[in-house]
Amino acid sequence: MQWVVKKYLLATSSLLLLSFLALLLTSREEISLDYFPKESSPSVTLTCFNTFDSTLRVTIKPECPPGLISLGSGAISQGDSPTAEITQLHPILEARFSAAQSAAKLEGVNLYITSGFRSLERQAQLFANAVSKYGSETEAAKWVLPPQFSHHPEGLAIDVNYPGDRPGAQWLEEHGARFGLCRVYANEWWHFEGPIAPGESCPAMAANALVDLG
Ligand SMILES: [Zn+2]
Repeated sequence: MQWVVKKYLLATSSLLLLSFLALLLTSREEISLDYFPKESSPSVTLTCFNTFDSTLRVTIKPECPPGLISLGSGAISQGDSPTAEITQLHPILEARFSAAQSAAKLEGVNLYITSGFRSLERQAQLFANAVSKYGSETEAAKWVLPPQFSHHPEGLAIDVNYPGDRPGAQWLEEHGARFGLCRVYANEWWHFEGPIAPGESCPAMAANALVDLG
């Protein structure tokens, strides 16, 4: 009789242990499917911003949870052949800036865009002005690119806190990568683009905008 009881107890405890292990594995899987550090990601991750508490969340799902704003899953581009004329900032770039702006505000830092989307005509005018100011097209292009090369008419670049408020732009330079924003030119502390996925490291800066003329 005692032997039967022992066997019964052994079977019951094994079952309990197995159930516990199964539960542990299941809950782990749920967590890893929905939320995990980017380093261990096996596939494309999407970064989402919560405007209420200025926190970021990463998911492998194709869309952000309700109420959260998508900051995208990679470098921001308009693709090879945009189908419509571009007339505004890329919505993901705008979302990334808004997210950074909210986070900066919590630290008492004021961020604002002083120049975002520019029409081709506006960019041409700015380039012409720069040629007059700097004396040659090459010198001018270090500061203002011709319309067909500048990322402003593509809606892919923003100038932040220019000209008089460098500390704000400095905050963005230090913290922007979390939101997928990078300063890209060594000679322009105010010019930011979205060349990475949020959370990645920004690439090394180019000396100036001539790098985009090629
Ligand atoms: Zn710019």
